[in-house]
Amino acid sequence: MMILITKRIWHVALPIPNQALLDYLPCPCSPDWYVKPVEPGMRLLVPYGHRILVGILISIKTKTNCPINKLKPAISILDDQCVLPKILMTFCMQVAQYYHRSLGEVLMLALPKKLRTESTIKHPEQCYWVLNHQIDLHSIKIVSKTQKAILVQLKNAHGALPEYCLKQAGFSREQLKRLAKRLYIYQDIRREKILSFYEYNPAIIETPLPLTQEQEDAVNIIIKQAHHFFPLLLYGVTGSGKTEVYLQVISHVIHQKKQALILIPEISLTPQTVQRFQKRFSAPVMVLHSKLSDTERYAGWYQAQSGTAGIIIGTRSCIFTPLPALGIIIIDEEHDTAYKQQDNLRYSARDMALIRGKQANIPVILGSATPSLESLHHALQGHYHYQTLTVRPGKMQLPDFKIIDMRKQTVQAGLSNIAITHIHHTLLQKQQVLIFLNQRGYAPSILCESCGHIMMCRHCDAYMTLHFKPAQLQCHHCSYMQCVPTQCPDCKNPKLIAQGAGTERAEQMLQSLFPQTTIIRIDRDSTQKKNSLSQLLHQITQHQSAILIGTQMLAKGHHFPNVTLAVILNIDRGFFSTDFRGEEKTAQLILQVSGRSGRSEKKGLTLIQTYKPDHPTLQTLIHQGYSDFAKQQLHYRKMHHLPPYSYLTLFSAESVDYATLNRQINAIAQWMKDWVSTLKTSEKQFIQVIGPMPSPIEKRQNKYRSQLLIQSTQRNRLHQLIHIFLPHLYQLSRKKKFHWTIDIDPQDFL
Ligand code: ADP
Ligand code: ZN
Repeated sequence: MMILITKRIWHVALPIPNQALLDYLPCPCSPDWYVKPVEPGMRLLVPYGHRILVGILISIKTKTNCPINKLKPAISILDDQCVLPKILMTFCMQVAQYYHRSLGEVLMLALPKKLRTESTIKHPEQCYWVLNHQIDLHSIKIVSKTQKAILVQLKNAHGALPEYCLKQAGFSREQLKRLAKRLYIYQDIRREKILSFYEYNPAIIETPLPLTQEQEDAVNIIIKQAHHFFPLLLYGVTGSGKTEVYLQVISHVIHQKKQALILIPEISLTPQTVQRFQKRFSAPVMVLHSKLSDTERYAGWYQAQSGTAGIIIGTRSCIFTPLPALGIIIIDEEHDTAYKQQDNLRYSARDMALIRGKQANIPVILGSATPSLESLHHALQGHYHYQTLTVRPGKMQLPDFKIIDMRKQTVQAGLSNIAITHIHHTLLQKQQVLIFLNQRGYAPSILCESCGHIMMCRHCDAYMTLHFKPAQLQCHHCSYMQCVPTQCPDCKNPKLIAQGAGTERAEQMLQSLFPQTTIIRIDRDSTQKKNSLSQLLHQITQHQSAILIGTQMLAKGHHFPNVTLAVILNIDRGFFSTDFRGEEKTAQLILQVSGRSGRSEKKGLTLIQTYKPDHPTLQTLIHQGYSDFAKQQLHYRKMHHLPPYSYLTLFSAESVDYATLNRQINAIAQWMKDWVSTLKTSEKQFIQVIGPMPSPIEKRQNKYRSQLLIQSTQRNRLHQLIHIFLPHLYQLSRKKKFHWTIDIDPQDFL
């Protein structure tokens, strides 16, 4: 026994910040040790301080840097096979390195919640329908067309299919039961993995559309590169049929018995996208997102990991899903900021998809009508392949734009007369109008008419937003709520005025202007309850003419065939944002909103209300298009050494104590600047430490906030600096009043 112990050291990754791998002795007292072969990728239970943690075995070695008598034995082995394949562990290692986190923290992202604890891996139970082999399909006469179709599907699948696959294919449980009653099929609850995705023929149920030339080129080029790392930017205008390209590429991938991973920004927002995938293939489509219960998520993860699921659609965290036969990654709406996690481990699923694709040697498709400047830059530089879809298929046309100069307009209820006339006209034609306003609530602020006092959040440096239903003031940064005051807290004047308009107010104003029209409001407040969004989306399809009003939730990927007019109420703020990405994000929003209109035979129109009609950015975007706009922006970024021409890291710190915050962040800034000053003169120019400066919202949830921006034209330098400083920083966070975060490639500077 002693010999065994000294010969084998287990290197284990634990989900602990700033922790390299830890060494453990095998668990000698566990009978597991004798019966189970131990492999990297299995979960272990190990002691850590006073706690017992789940860790992942990374490697088995003969050497350790610790004195052997200091090593503790592991407690037990939780799995009898690897839960994480080697290639995924390699991927996680790269992610950990890139974001300067411990491997254990990243590996936990690849496990469903249930497996982050001691629970053992179990094949989730699944209801299968099995063909009764004693029955000869040809001799059956008295079944309906649908029933026949079910029997054929089962036969094609070697006699058995999970119920959810059949449901996806459009068959109901009742139809299945009816067949069962006649003993043609029977139900079987299976726990063991029996049918893998590779074992049956993924049939296409819905006929693919005949492709346009551009679509066909895109499909062909991807298929040709199916066995290589092939990053491709698919820049296709709104409604140009990118999804159809994905579908046909995926069809090819699954026929090769490979799995397809599709990331979309937010699943609940666009159920239509998921339905299109489910309608097309009989291969199991697994949908993974944050609204699932832990059990559902586990079942999904299991099917992906075991190769049962052929098509996996999910949000950003899905980039960590183990997929034994990954054949392609598709990132739809790649410009969307939802791909960047904004707390804890701040990874970008889009960027990591490229790393994963490179490791797996497969195509990675980034699709968008408004590509991020980063991706566009890579494409223009030739780092990514570049494919465009410039037209909408068939009779669909891109909408026209019209800028409305608000300085010259009489304004009623926030709408110019021109807009009102257009809305009227559109409704008369029995078509729908989409109104976009990026502000939820009734009014963004409320002020005293007499002394000008504006109601602020008690805990943040932010205005309180007035809400109508329920009537209250809300802070959109910390969720603090209070009753609407009846008088000014400063001067006691009873007259308080709601300033500006949010979606609630706009809805009321529109209803008074168009009392006969159905108005459907879609924002975070109107969609809070489960299923409320799908109900609202369903309502939209039920009316010929209607006004849809909403925040950017309405702008994302929806297909509303009867919308022909889009009105953008107030976009000016976006063009004057302090964030260097402000204009990029605003331009993307304008095009995405306008892209919701004119998606069937009738041409659409987009009205943009603005007080700055001559703003050069707006002019370029409207008259020359997104490509030219993007090229101008890239030029500007290059001049100012901003991403994608440089790399950024945002160091943010917060503390309840203002003095502690300033003392610490000043010290950190000084350390970093001193380190830069030790570099050779020729190298100093490549890296710059900017700040400290107060965060845009200086106080949030009673904490003061400050930040440092590190900018470098050399990615390695930047990472080197962070690497050197991390140990100091971890030391600092032992101080209770001081909390910090590092955001590599930040998207947001709040
Ligand atoms: P995107 O994803 O680029 O916004 P979609 O894939 O949603 O565009 O396509 C918009 C509409 O065009 C959909 O209704 C789709 O069915 C239709 N469509 C896509 N490709 C074709 C095609 N080749 N022929 C006819 N219609 C198409
Ligand atoms: Zn607040």
